[in-house]
Amino acid sequence: MNDAQETCAVCGTNQKFIFKLKDFSYYRCPICGLISTYPIPDSVTIEKHYTQGFNEGNYRLRLEYSRQYASVYQADIKIIERKLAAYNLNIQGLKVLDIGCFTGDFLELIQKRGADVCGLELQSQAVEIASQRLPGCIFKADIFSNDFPQMQFDIITMFSLLEHVVDPVRLLTQATELLKSGGVLMIQTPAGDSPPARIMGKYWPPYIPIEHFHYFSTKAFIAILNKLGYEDISFKSQWKWLPIEYVYNMFQTYGPALHKMLTPVFRVLPRFIAGASLPFYIGGVTVMARKQ
Ligand SMILES: [Zn+2]
Repeated sequence: MNDAQETCAVCGTNQKFIFKLKDFSYYRCPICGLISTYPIPDSVTIEKHYTQGFNEGNYRLRLEYSRQYASVYQADIKIIERKLAAYNLNIQGLKVLDIGCFTGDFLELIQKRGADVCGLELQSQAVEIASQRLPGCIFKADIFSNDFPQMQFDIITMFSLLEHVVDPVRLLTQATELLKSGGVLMIQTPAGDSPPARIMGKYWPPYIPIEHFHYFSTKAFIAILNKLGYEDISFKSQWKWLPIEYVYNMFQTYGPALHKMLTPVFRVLPRFIAGASLPFYIGGVTVMARKQ
């Protein structure tokens, strides 16, 4: 890849080169702030990466700590319920679509609150686990296929999904098609304009070539969501209550430089402290918007 300018997927402006990481170059849009990774690998390379990923990196970790991770989703459900209350709506009976539902943790929790749930996931092992927990509600499909109930949803959620897709604008456009008028969209993703991203530069843990491609900023979200016909767009920095040891282990995959730096400290931490949960913020944002 040379220094040729790349085109912003959100606003069409030429993005500017910011840094190199491994064999990849990172570019930022001077207008909307969208950060993108180039070159985008082919589908075979991406597929291979995810097949390995389930057994090795962060997937395994998420499974091991799924009980502790539940608090993160509980917090998300509270945010959704607060938003619905502002619209005089109740979660009971609402149709919820979670795109990239992984092992179904979030859907299981929101189903208990009375929602009618549907989950899409591509990772075979995750689909298997989610299907056991939520029989008949999980589909090994992407949002562009017809292999799941074709209906209009009240709530569509995407947790840690947008950064993984090659064409996030196409994904958001399709999700909007499936959302009822007045329906709520909830997105969680690492924000390219967050303080941790700005301070850590290329060492920011979410910069992972092959796994993540695009990092939205507040401006980029406002541009695309306005264009797609959303209103009441809100942003909230995502603090997650997680065990210290979980976050430390996560850095092994997401942020190896940081992991290495923290190792001497982590080694001397007593077990009861390492297992304790603290609020962590690594630059994630929760975006909510209502379709007009
Ligand atoms: Zn742009």
